[in-house]
Amino acid sequence: MEYNIKPVLQTTFGYSSFKANQEDIINSILQGRDVFAAMPTGGGKSLCYQLPAMILPGLTVVISPLIALMKDQVDSARGNGISAGFINSSLSFEDADNVLSELKNGKLKLLYIAPERFAVDGFISRLQRVKLSHISIDEAHCVSEWGHDFRPEYLSLSSLRNHFPDIIISAFTATATKKVQEDIISHLKLKSPLCIRASFDRKELYYRIARKSNANSQILEFVREHQGDSGIIYRSTRKDVEKTAVFLKEYGISALPYHAGLADNIRKKNQNLFKKDEVDIIVATIAFGMGIDKSNVRFVIHGDLPKSVESYYQETGRAGRDGELSYCLLLYSRGDSGKIQYHIRNIDDPDEQKRARINLSKMISYAETGVCRRKQLLSYFDELYPGNCGMCDSCNDEIEMVDGTVDAQKVLSAIKRMDVRFGITYIIDIIRGADTARVREYGHYELPTYAVGKNESKKYWHGIIDELLGQKCLFRDEDHYGVLKITERGKAVLYGKKALSVVKRHKEKKSKVTVYFGKGDEELFDILKKLRLNIARDKGLPPYMIFSDKTLRELCVKLPENRESFLNINGVGKVKLQTYGQMFLECIRMNR
Ligand code: ADP
Ligand code: MG
Repeated sequence: MEYNIKPVLQTTFGYSSFKANQEDIINSILQGRDVFAAMPTGGGKSLCYQLPAMILPGLTVVISPLIALMKDQVDSARGNGISAGFINSSLSFEDADNVLSELKNGKLKLLYIAPERFAVDGFISRLQRVKLSHISIDEAHCVSEWGHDFRPEYLSLSSLRNHFPDIIISAFTATATKKVQEDIISHLKLKSPLCIRASFDRKELYYRIARKSNANSQILEFVREHQGDSGIIYRSTRKDVEKTAVFLKEYGISALPYHAGLADNIRKKNQNLFKKDEVDIIVATIAFGMGIDKSNVRFVIHGDLPKSVESYYQETGRAGRDGELSYCLLLYSRGDSGKIQYHIRNIDDPDEQKRARINLSKMISYAETGVCRRKQLLSYFDELYPGNCGMCDSCNDEIEMVDGTVDAQKVLSAIKRMDVRFGITYIIDIIRGADTARVREYGHYELPTYAVGKNESKKYWHGIIDELLGQKCLFRDEDHYGVLKITERGKAVLYGKKALSVVKRHKEKKSKVTVYFGKGDEELFDILKKLRLNIARDKGLPPYMIFSDKTLRELCVKLPENRESFLNINGVGKVKLQTYGQMFLECIRMNR
């Protein structure tokens, strides 16, 4: 049977067109064929099972590991007029009972549950008694021991096929490796499924890497340029999370910490305030993020080097879910990789240690090469991308390769003359002509290289040394107090047989980037954001669930004057028009 799904997309969800692959996936489900789909974060996976749920007879069950997210997904589906509910351990007995009786009456179209639910006595037979059409498994990589987030509870899902032999099963994940895909398909016993591997390109994300000198002041500088925007700042330790959060607060920035060392209720509260736009910024360890569907995160900063490209991509992917321009900044220093290497040496399992080493070296090479960032990231996922994306520091003339041979020789010669026994800080002291007790003690002010670089900053010389390390002209002997040693390559540069190009950084050229995105009137945007926040407070919902930033932007550009043109805005469906149309139309009329 052919279904006409476009009108449902329009009236229920308020979208005028499908995102990549949504249409194929939905048609497959409606025709009774299983689906496996790997799509990036923000790719629009929820709609792939929510829309068919409106059309298929009976019930659609969605299995998700993220209890915290279920309520949001249900609220959001209900906001679009879909009869949805969830059952999990957070629900009171009474509430769960209500959902179960809705289930029995056949009133429910969409039911979210955690995988543990199948182990509950009688639950499967309950489902067998209702008209069940489709089971969809979100975050399906959790069944794979190869995935980064394996969950033993997910293994029990392999019995679904036996209990419901004729049901449509679909599986969704944002993890792209082939091994995980195979595991998912075989574990869930998908029957010749439609297999979708979407492009992992996130066009709305701007990637930038900056040399880390002083993380907190660099973060502050960035945040000030993005005043009022919602963002996540990742730090690698709890201590640094606390320090950065306190530092930002001292400068009047609205920020809260999040890490596993905080009491449960504080952590939940901070996450909630962030979700509801009551605080702009969350400073967090990587414990934060799974189960956050906030669509208006405008930037993700990594204050320290991530352990792998995969985790970096997952974490940066939390920005820009709504498709609006968002920034990903990584502060990079070689010192960080030393710290991670130290931890890797302490891993007992040799295989795991090897994997960790490979992951780190890929991450370092990402951070150190001047090639289009997007090209590198996508090649990590085996996707061929031509480069020149125009949306990273490398393609936006922020970085330029210049000849750094002479300065490199100054550093190398200082190291050689000091008989290669010193670390980075001291070498920079010599080059800049510092007058310290140690310099006097060693008599190093007599060296010919003493003070040859006094006109450049410490930060500058740090950069040169980082380049020398990165290009393997120097080698940091971690087993001997981090002493710097000159390699064969380094000797070639020192004796003028080889040139060294180094990265020079300029400021981002904003105009070049923002031209991709229609922004509309900035003032009106702020007014609509406030209106949205007030409505959200009234309803106890996160603001992005009322309307996304993208929808507000479009309102600022198109300035609808009546209900009909309001309905034409992306993200406005019939139910949302009824609920919010009046308020927003009035606000636009008064402030345009
Ligand atoms: P995922 O689960 O794949 O990370 P979501 O399902 O959370 O992504 O969707 C990401 C965002 O994209 C949401 O804000 C959603 O409303 C929006 N979205 C989904 N489908 C469409 C579409 N066809 N057109 C425009 N926006 C869409
Ligand atoms: Mg999702």
